Amino acid sequence: MDLISEHPYWLMRNGIPYTYPSLQEEISTDVVVVGTGISGTLIAYKLAKAGIKVVQVDRRHAAMGSTVASTSLLQYEIDTPMHVLADKIGEENAARSYELCLDAIYQLQDICKGMGNTNNTFKLRPSLQYASFKKDIEPLHKEYTLRKKHGFDVSWLEQEKIKEFYGLEAPAAISSKDGGQIDAYLTTHCLLQECLKMGNKIYDNTNVSEILHHRRSVELKTDTGHTIKAKKLVIACGYETLKYIPRKVATLNSTYALVTEPIAKEHVWKDCSLIWETATPYMYYRITGDNRILMGGKDDEFYNPDKRDASIKKKAKELEASFSKRFPSIPIRTDFRWAGTFATTKDGLPYIGTIPERLNTYFALGFGGNGITYSVIAADIIRDMILGNTNKDAELLGFNR
Ligand SMILES: Cc1cc2nc3c(=O)[nH]c(=O)nc-3n(C[C@H](O)[C@H](O)[C@H](O)COP(=O)(O)OP(=O)(O)OC[C@H]3O[C@@H](n4cnc5c(N)ncnc54)[C@H](O)[C@@H]3O)c2cc1C
Repeated sequence: MDLISEHPYWLMRNGIPYTYPSLQEEISTDVVVVGTGISGTLIAYKLAKAGIKVVQVDRRHAAMGSTVASTSLLQYEIDTPMHVLADKIGEENAARSYELCLDAIYQLQDICKGMGNTNNTFKLRPSLQYASFKKDIEPLHKEYTLRKKHGFDVSWLEQEKIKEFYGLEAPAAISSKDGGQIDAYLTTHCLLQECLKMGNKIYDNTNVSEILHHRRSVELKTDTGHTIKAKKLVIACGYETLKYIPRKVATLNSTYALVTEPIAKEHVWKDCSLIWETATPYMYYRITGDNRILMGGKDDEFYNPDKRDASIKKKAKELEASFSKRFPSIPIRTDFRWAGTFATTKDGLPYIGTIPERLNTYFALGFGGNGITYSVIAADIIRDMILGNTNKDAELLGFNR
């Protein structure tokens, strides 16, 4: 499967911070985690902190799946508005889903602080969701009212203030105090280093080609000709996880992103907020530490890497044009552009946990625009399940919902 293409900014910026060997021996462990993206790595990190022996393995180089392509906005607002989600799963569950994402942002902040070597890439940032069209004002206001009812720190903005604070042409918006941004690629590499310090073993460039699920254990065969034996298996293979699940839980799409050259200081909008909109698919914008605008969107409803990659240039032009229409006073010039795969689920929520068809196996499928906050949530739920502890949110995000 081809997950990303062209030049993800984070790879150009950071290069390959750390390297890992391929697996060249027979090995046994408590838990084997397949995937060194941000999901697998957070899970491995939390398991190691709980004193569990972990082996982590990846067919690519570390964090070179979707994680290196991620624009890495951290928002508690998921792709499905809370009032729409409430109609699908009930109001309390919808509010709880949003709360979990909110907690995940602050948890990630603590994890990054604890590591101290992520180049300070984690930043708290407010988030602004604007109405793309006049017809969206009413549903957006309904969303604002419901979020406020459930204690989220939000305010309502009209056209003039939006223009004044953000230079943005839009009829109305919700401003949320809580949000953040990160360099997911560098953070994952730093977390992997923490995992090594705690005794985890990490192998990249090692494809898991066969998985045998036994009654009390699992056995993984790798393309390096070796076997990994473990009591438990965590599959955190991002969008490639779908091939291990004998059910259809998600649809694969293509998405596009670019980063501009640094913009002049006077064009940096209020609080470097994360900005996104009500339209589907939506455009989104954030400002990097060196004042570049990172934007994405223009999604296509297909997974076809050749078709996706052939569209990158055209899609980058469309992204630039949409930006300039909304922010007419901010001149931009694209520096790097790329594309990636992403997946959507029926309710915008992730699938985390076990299925009876795959013994001793846990899945972390953080699909949708909030993949990173879902990775944090998955790490808590899967750690608790492996330790045999109750996690009251497991059912909400499980496969039986
Ligand atoms: C362009 C783009 C923008 C995004 N923007 C945001 C955003 O703003 N905010 C947000 O929260 N999320 C965003 N996401 C989503 C987020 O990046 C992903 O949810 C997250 O990176 C997924 O991490 P992961 O660890 O689950 O998967 P991955 O990073 O894909 O890692 C999975 C790993 O598993 C490995 N693997 C797969 N199969 C095997 C095998 N058989 N053997 C060994 N290894 C295997 C892969 O090589 C890969 O490295 C974006 C995604 C894209 C593509």
